[in-house]
Amino acid sequence: MTSSSIERDPCANCGKVPPEGEQYYWVVAPFPRLDYYFVCKECSPHFEKITFIDEILGGPTSIRESQPIGTYIRWNHDQPVIYYSKFPITFGERTFIQKPENSERASLDFVQQRIADSVIDLQQLPPLADFPFIEDFEIILIRSKVSNLPDSQFGQYKLRFRSRSHGTLACLLYSPIKSSYSSHFEGAYGTLELPYFDFDQGYKFLLFEDDTFVYVLQGGDYNNDEFDIWFKVDRQHYYACWKHILALAKDVPIDY
Ligand SMILES: [Zn+2]
Repeated sequence: MTSSSIERDPCANCGKVPPEGEQYYWVVAPFPRLDYYFVCKECSPHFEKITFIDEILGGPTSIRESQPIGTYIRWNHDQPVIYYSKFPITFGERTFIQKPENSERASLDFVQQRIADSVIDLQQLPPLADFPFIEDFEIILIRSKVSNLPDSQFGQYKLRFRSRSHGTLACLLYSPIKSSYSSHFEGAYGTLELPYFDFDQGYKFLLFEDDTFVYVLQGGDYNNDEFDIWFKVDRQHYYACWKHILALAKDVPIDY
């Protein structure tokens, strides 16, 4: 989760390219025609740092100062990266196939084969007992805006898996907020036979459960098999979290 494209850009104030490994700072631009820009460490004290207002649905609102770019350290950095090379059928693909109007576009044999091929290969994973257990797991809907730019508007609510002690653990592409362009989403559930899987640019997400736990894996680029985030949650608690967030989302008006 580094921003390599930003790392090679010159500082917007002094024009120098910061040395390798040096951070960039997200600041309020001094010209009205610009909203914000990125400056080097040396220039950063002369500017106001971008800050965010984070609003959690049904929860607290807080102010957060932007962190220097290029300093992301994952909460579980002492754990090895998992290499899982299977590419299960995605949730989006399954949803598409299930729609009656699309039934003729995917042959039954093909769909059945994709589903059969999705079975979790435990050989490629560490022992499930080694997945760190997140006791204070919660599911939240959160929206943010920049607090020190007058034109900043709240974006859509995003769904996050979170822990009070570790912060954001993982995120999902779908959310239960009603939307005029996507179908209603009622939770990410998967089994060892048919896991929940999805990917997008710079993102991949795998989830399955056994009798006791729900196992979550998240990685970046879907062109590789690396999952750097992995943990487990109590299954009953996980289900209760979804029930809670679905109830909260029900009262949010349709957006966009
Ligand atoms: Zn500079």
